Amino acid sequence: MSLIVQKFGGTSVADADRLRNVARIITETYKKGNSVVAVLSAQGDTTDDLIEKAKEINPHASKREMDMLLSTGEQISISLCAMAIEAMGYQVISLTGWQAGMLTNSAYSAARIKRIQTERIQKELDKKKIVLVAGFQGINKYDDITTLGRGGSDTSAVALAASLHADLCQIYTDVDGVYTADPRYVKGARKLDEITFDEMLELASLGAQVLHNRSVEMAKRYNVNMEVLSSFSGNPGTKVKEVVKTMEKTHVSGVAKDKNVARLALVGLADQPGIAFKIFSLLAKHNINVDIILQSIGRDESKDISFTVARSDAEEAKRVMEENKEVIGFQKVELNDHIAKISIVGAGMANNAGVACKMFEALFSAGININMISTSEIKVSVLVDEREADRAVQAVHDRFFNEFGNA
Ligand code: ADP
Ligand code: ASP
Ligand code: MG
Repeated sequence: MSLIVQKFGGTSVADADRLRNVARIITETYKKGNSVVAVLSAQGDTTDDLIEKAKEINPHASKREMDMLLSTGEQISISLCAMAIEAMGYQVISLTGWQAGMLTNSAYSAARIKRIQTERIQKELDKKKIVLVAGFQGINKYDDITTLGRGGSDTSAVALAASLHADLCQIYTDVDGVYTADPRYVKGARKLDEITFDEMLELASLGAQVLHNRSVEMAKRYNVNMEVLSSFSGNPGTKVKEVVKTMEKTHVSGVAKDKNVARLALVGLADQPGIAFKIFSLLAKHNINVDIILQSIGRDESKDISFTVARSDAEEAKRVMEENKEVIGFQKVELNDHIAKISIVGAGMANNAGVACKMFEALFSAGININMISTSEIKVSVLVDEREADRAVQAVHDRFFNEFGNA
């Protein structure tokens, strides 16, 4: 007998029929003799709708109250699904994050799981019940409800799988698995049979929404046996694991797009030591994460530094720079929040000099200008104009994954 954690995303539980479908998948797994813990997300657009509702009342609501509100979405899903499973004649119980012992820190809206007290879940499993757990939510040391950040139900599921030492963690979603690019927007995107934790972590962090990046980080740390599959098709999904068979010959496993990017440029800085330190320590003090950094060669004793931040941090970053104009010493700061980051990810990339070149060639052939470039052992990212982002992804994907591509 195995213990299986299953997670069902918003589209998979969007209405009564879909909830019944999820109840069927869960009970079929249970009927085979497995213990099942299922984590559910809020139905369809519920979380977005709740955010809109909050904005109507108070656009600057506290994060604590936002978490209180948003956590209700998942509670609706688990109770309705439990009712569907009851109607099928099985023993089932739904648990909120706190009932399931999901203890987090106090970073409302972006809480991190500290540990899971699994006694209650274990007790219910021992009684042979199917256990449904509300995703995306936990409780902090003040007994307040917290949420884990958008898309966080994946992380709830992986955390449960790790704490319960589950044999398998299945992430059920609305596509057949992890693809070489978003299959909804990119023609010719192919499903991957397997992908390494490292590649998946990069793809998820670089904009591939299919998995919450923290869920992948956690799955890697605890070596959780993880797969992504469709709740609709019944097709085999994608296994996410430490090592994959095809790793040696693969150069690129996927292309991702991230629109949550803005670029700031500080023009006319003095070409002297300590300037970068001043800029980035100020940003760090304000908890603003910086991604790509580019410094021009000093000319006429002056230089420029450009960097990217999340779009939600862009205005604050600009304000911090302007407030410290004298201290840092620059002529002007420019903000561009109409850009997007396009990335290729692949474990076999580090030892293949031609990979980045192939990406640049694809963009050149499509007449798309590159604003900034950043590379690591496992990825190459470029910034392009937001309006060209979809075309850029398609061009790069075609170059690596059409019939002549070698990926
Ligand atoms: P869920 O509600 O099940 O958590 P999400 O909407 O969070 O589902 O994630 C699934 C979506 O991720 C897919 O519908 C797809 O459009 C998008 N996606 C982006 N990149 C990829 C990729 N490389 N492979 C698969 N899906 C992707
Ligand atoms: N309902 C939450 C969201 O929409 C969490 C999740 O779906 O994973 O972000
Ligand atoms: Mg999701």
